[in-house]
Amino acid sequence: MSDGSNALRGATCDEFDVVIVGSGFAGLYMLYRVRELGYRARVFEAGSDVGGTWYWNRYPGARCDSESIYYSYSFSEELEQEWPLLERYPAQPTMLSYLQHVADRFDLRKDIVFNSRVVSATYDEQRNSWSVRTDTGLEASARFLITAVGCLSAANKPEMPGQERFKGECHHTSEWPHDGVDYTGKRVAVIGTGSTGIQLIPEVAKTAAHLTVFQRTPQFTLPAYNRGLEPTYVNEIKASYPDLRQRCRESPVGTPYAPSDRSALEASPDDLRKAYEEAWAQGGAKFLGTFTDIMVSVEANQTAADFVRAKIDEIVRDPEVAEMLKPTSYPIGTKRIPIDSGYYETFNRENVKLVHLGRTPLVGFTEEGLRTTEGEFPADIVIFATGFDALTGPLLRMNLVGRDGIELKDKWAEGPRTYLGLATTGFPNLFTITGPGSPSVLSNMPVSIEQHVEWIQSCLRFLQDCGADKIEATPEAEDAWTDHVNQVAAKTLYPRAASWYMGANVPGKPRTFLPYIGGVGNYRKICDEIANSEYRGFRIPGRPTVTDVRFETVSRYAAAPKESEKNSEAEKVEAT
Ligand code: NAP
Repeated sequence: MSDGSNALRGATCDEFDVVIVGSGFAGLYMLYRVRELGYRARVFEAGSDVGGTWYWNRYPGARCDSESIYYSYSFSEELEQEWPLLERYPAQPTMLSYLQHVADRFDLRKDIVFNSRVVSATYDEQRNSWSVRTDTGLEASARFLITAVGCLSAANKPEMPGQERFKGECHHTSEWPHDGVDYTGKRVAVIGTGSTGIQLIPEVAKTAAHLTVFQRTPQFTLPAYNRGLEPTYVNEIKASYPDLRQRCRESPVGTPYAPSDRSALEASPDDLRKAYEEAWAQGGAKFLGTFTDIMVSVEANQTAADFVRAKIDEIVRDPEVAEMLKPTSYPIGTKRIPIDSGYYETFNRENVKLVHLGRTPLVGFTEEGLRTTEGEFPADIVIFATGFDALTGPLLRMNLVGRDGIELKDKWAEGPRTYLGLATTGFPNLFTITGPGSPSVLSNMPVSIEQHVEWIQSCLRFLQDCGADKIEATPEAEDAWTDHVNQVAAKTLYPRAASWYMGANVPGKPRTFLPYIGGVGNYRKICDEIANSEYRGFRIPGRPTVTDVRFETVSRYAAAPKESEKNSEAEKVEAT
């Protein structure tokens, strides 16, 4: 370990205290925090610049689904005061500039090596250190390895028969060419109608000669109603930041909005309609929080789903197309809800055709385009908006090998097993920022990232202070947490959808609920309590190890208990 001298930083030696993988929101902040500990750190980044998600996802229409007033770092008051807030939902170029600004403002670039993808990382027990290798042949070793690789960064590229024969261009939305794609006057095909496809499709339809949309599963989507922000509103927000940030940290999903305490099942049809109309008119995913039981009660969920299906009928002129666009096979919200700018309206255009693969599956590529069981669809450009191998994909693709030669891909063959989503048994000194089993994708990401980064920094400081250089989750704690993650998910409707939350979008991936749905505020309390107990559930040589770790089953999406159940609940369910 270094002596804490800043003078060591910048040396060419390939030995570091910490290697961080990735320079998006998580990697940049982690670097900032480990520097405070006096550690020598190296960041490896696959891209040619910082930005992570906002560096890679440059497709037309790419925009953040979280509001700019809270989708940002909170750790620097100067930063949050100086950065201009222009639109309700920041566009991809704005987010990329923000992260570039952060890298420059805090002088972070000098410890980042770009164009270097980590392809293997192996723990050496003798040396108690991680050896990291990149696709460019760089090697580095470090006591601690911290992954900041994002949850949605490993592209899902389905194999399609005949793709090599196709004479046109193919692009995946998350690897969009930096100089753009010119689809003016071209015939374009888009495969996939998740959040990405739903942002991309209205934009492409505006200039393409013809657009064919290949939809496998219809999606519920909600209007974004993006707009410019008034300077007076921005000033008010900036003046209230300490309070706003605190509300985010304590909330279920990392946003400043108070959750509803009303049950949809107790509302009259008139009240339901009024409440949903109001939420629809405001725009955004808050719609799903109109009632407290939408994500836990099938009947309550049905009221929200019926409302959106009726909206599709109102918006889409051709009743057959409207019917094809209506989701019926899963509860609303259990596949991550997109927000859109004119998605359903796009199907009223003359130059747009919807092909429902649920009825007529894709057969594959031809030389001229795509073929389904219904016929052939010519295209000059095929865009894969087919998503990601979420949460586990980015970690497994790094070929992590832990103690005794355990490979992460073998350890997680039946699904991820973690302690708090931050650590996994058999992989000492590895920390996974927003890893599987943490709120991550079910939250406003910067809030969850800051919480993890600060927790890791405190943990490293604790190790420094007690002269320890090794920490590993115990198997008992990992079992308890993994069971807890599943038990909390089972209290919701989420496991009912074939979603990427469940690993269902990637052929052969185990079906298990990947993030933690207990809520950002609850989760933070659990993590803090573990840190305050001197890292219960972790083994630190030279310190007592507490293996008996238990978690109460809480749910951020709980229906208010019925009178008869109030005093007899076996489990504590926190109504939010
Ligand atoms: P996604 O939600 O997984 O959607 C992928 C789409 O491709 C789905 O419609 C899927 O159909 C389809 N698909 C996958 N494999 C296919 C195949 N072999 N044949 C035909 N269709 C196939 O991916 P995404 O849209 O990229 O979004 C992923 C996540 O990224 C989002 O849920 C969100 O969390 C995040 N995101 C955020 C933003 C934002 O904040 N602005 C924007 C974009 C994405 P099925 O539904 O049948 O699987």
